[in-house]
Amino acid sequence: MSAPARPLLSRLKTAVVQWIDADYCPDGPEKMRQEPDKVDWVRVMPFAVLHLGCFGVIWTGWSPFAAWSAVALYFLRMFAVTGIYHRYFSHKTYSTSRFGQFLLAVWGGTTVQRGPLWWAYHHRHHHQHSDDEEDAHSPHVHGFWWSHIGWITSRRNFPTDYSKVKDLAKFPELVFLNRFDIVVPLLFAASMFGLGAALERFAPGLGTTGPQMLVWGFFISTTALFHGTSCINSMAHLMGRRRFKTTDDSRNSFILAIICLGEGWHNNHHRYQSSTRNGFYWWEIDPTYYGLKLLSWTGLIWGFKAVPQSVLAEGEHADHHRTVEAAARSEHVHVRSSLKKVVPTATALAVGTIQAAQAEAPKQPERPGIHKDTTELTVDKPDAKPAN
Ligand SMILES: [Zn+2]
Ligand SMILES: [Zn+2]
Repeated sequence: MSAPARPLLSRLKTAVVQWIDADYCPDGPEKMRQEPDKVDWVRVMPFAVLHLGCFGVIWTGWSPFAAWSAVALYFLRMFAVTGIYHRYFSHKTYSTSRFGQFLLAVWGGTTVQRGPLWWAYHHRHHHQHSDDEEDAHSPHVHGFWWSHIGWITSRRNFPTDYSKVKDLAKFPELVFLNRFDIVVPLLFAASMFGLGAALERFAPGLGTTGPQMLVWGFFISTTALFHGTSCINSMAHLMGRRRFKTTDDSRNSFILAIICLGEGWHNNHHRYQSSTRNGFYWWEIDPTYYGLKLLSWTGLIWGFKAVPQSVLAEGEHADHHRTVEAAARSEHVHVRSSLKKVVPTATALAVGTIQAAQAEAPKQPERPGIHKDTTELTVDKPDAKPAN
């Protein structure tokens, strides 16, 4: 073969090996990270298969059990994304034992969002460079679709920078799960198939099968989970309100808080990343925090970090300020809209009055009932007679 074909083949081989060994980088991860953003079509084939697998529903059909399983697995694993990959591995907002940490990492692996160290590295990088050129998924820098899905397919974003997650990289079991990040997803997919096959045999009344549970419990639920999570990257810096004046454009959104179990309070989180809860006040729904609270009662996790009083006070002050501003604005609008009605009416009245003043008043006979309003008697008219 000619010389230019070898690098291409080598790149193909690298991409295929990386499906299994995510740390396989013949030229070194640093060089790979320096490359310009470019979709690695071979490397992302498992990700494409994840989406294509949803079409399997054409052949497997559906059953209430399979559909509800997909919903339940979406939320159980969204909890793993937010409560484990985000609030534990990325920010260490609570503590656990080494074994507990391993269990959490396996649970996180079922989300099919790569390994815990890769996830934490990229997320810490996002906080360091929020909405600047370096931010891998800023919708303001790279556009909506790149921040939603494009960045995860880019060759330069595949390697984990272990130097940025030294606190996690010292645990070989975590590095193993991160390096072979396809293992847990494969086991999860196989267990879905196995569950469906077992139910088909032992509980035929449920009407499900192995392939059907694989499609609903793995492919559909995981694809939905990916796009739900990605909404934080693409939309949480575009949609919602900004309570805190952070240096990025993060926002708080109730809708995103529902989709992502509390992660929608993203502006709160960018203001103070170390707290276990993202909903800073009781009215900011944060199901991940409630779930973590439940988990803490089992003894698996502990040492939650609270939002400092100074940050809460800052938030209340900002809300109060915004309420006052909104009230002032509505007052202004009210006055303006009233004036809109008053001005034409007043003008009409003034014109009418002038015309009336200039008009020749019809002579009417003096009758006792005409001058009921005594003020009329005080009008200085040329022909008015003294009222005495
Ligand atoms: Zn953000
Ligand atoms: Zn974060």
